[in-house]
Amino acid sequence: MLSLEDFKASLTLPSPVEPFFPKWKGAEKVSLFVKRDDAIHPIMSGNKWRKLSNALHTSLPKAIVSFGGGFSNHLHALGFICFKLGIPFTAIIRGDYSATPSPMIKDLIQWQTHIEYVDRITYKKRSDSAYLNELKLQFPDAIIIPEGGSQAQALQGIKDMVDEIEVDFDFIVAPVASGATLAGIVNALKTFNTGSIKNASPTPQRKAIGVGVLKGEGYLESLVEQFLPDSPRREVQQNIPAGERSKIPDRNQGEQHWHINHDYHFGGYAKTPIELQTFCCEFNNTMPFKIEPVYSGKAFWAVKDLLAKGAFNDGARIIILHTGGLQGAR
Ligand SMILES: *Cc1c(COP(=O)(O)O)cnc(C)c1O
Repeated sequence: MLSLEDFKASLTLPSPVEPFFPKWKGAEKVSLFVKRDDAIHPIMSGNKWRKLSNALHTSLPKAIVSFGGGFSNHLHALGFICFKLGIPFTAIIRGDYSATPSPMIKDLIQWQTHIEYVDRITYKKRSDSAYLNELKLQFPDAIIIPEGGSQAQALQGIKDMVDEIEVDFDFIVAPVASGATLAGIVNALKTFNTGSIKNASPTPQRKAIGVGVLKGEGYLESLVEQFLPDSPRREVQQNIPAGERSKIPDRNQGEQHWHINHDYHFGGYAKTPIELQTFCCEFNNTMPFKIEPVYSGKAFWAVKDLLAKGAFNDGARIIILHTGGLQGAR
């Protein structure tokens, strides 16, 4: 068992920012860098550490309950952290994998996680207050962390990631699923763009580009906005039926310094058609680090395609956030 200090000391933090020189069309006209959150730890997904780091900031919880699917990077990271820190952990997993545990679940078992398999109907209730109250009675000592570790607290951990970046940049590109990572980046950039020094010359605008890894035009934007404290469209969004949300005005207009690109979900969450798999394979054979097809593969493909289309101005300085997640590709 480790203390939180010793556990943190075992992580590669700050994660490196590395210049990146792929032989992609258009790449020679810009400066590319990769923020290597995949390098934070060989087992635990970097992005999920970022989102959890603040929940463990002050005093350690007595127990933790959380949710996820059978391949969840979040449950995997949390299971590992709880094992190392000696925190009893209950994972509520969608679907019954008891006969055929995934590699992720096998790890959880090895890390002494208490696993509860629930059906889809129960899993759907994971953010209903009545269900959460039941869980609080069942696990009175535990804190309950939402799916993906995506809670307001998570944004500070993402801001820490942005604050580590010492090179100047114009764009930061990141995959989007629950939206908390992008929301954390948007918040962090806002502080930078507003500038903290009085009378300083207007600071250049830094922009965040999310790459939707699932089908969710409008929906993913509303997920991000629910985390942004002063989002002007927040109220409006929630009153628009899901099917109509794509009619929300484009976020590139006006002051907005972020948007989500929906051209690279490849059919939906964890959908990995052969061309994407081939791209990841070739990438992994030729580049100095690895990607996987669920998150980072879609983000890197998006950058490659946007470069080929000339979507960035010449000389643009682009940070690609490698969120990790390689355990999920097993
Ligand atoms: C969970 C995850 C994401 C998505 O982050 P959100 O905050 O849910 O949008 C991206 N990459 C990896 C590797 C992840 O595990």
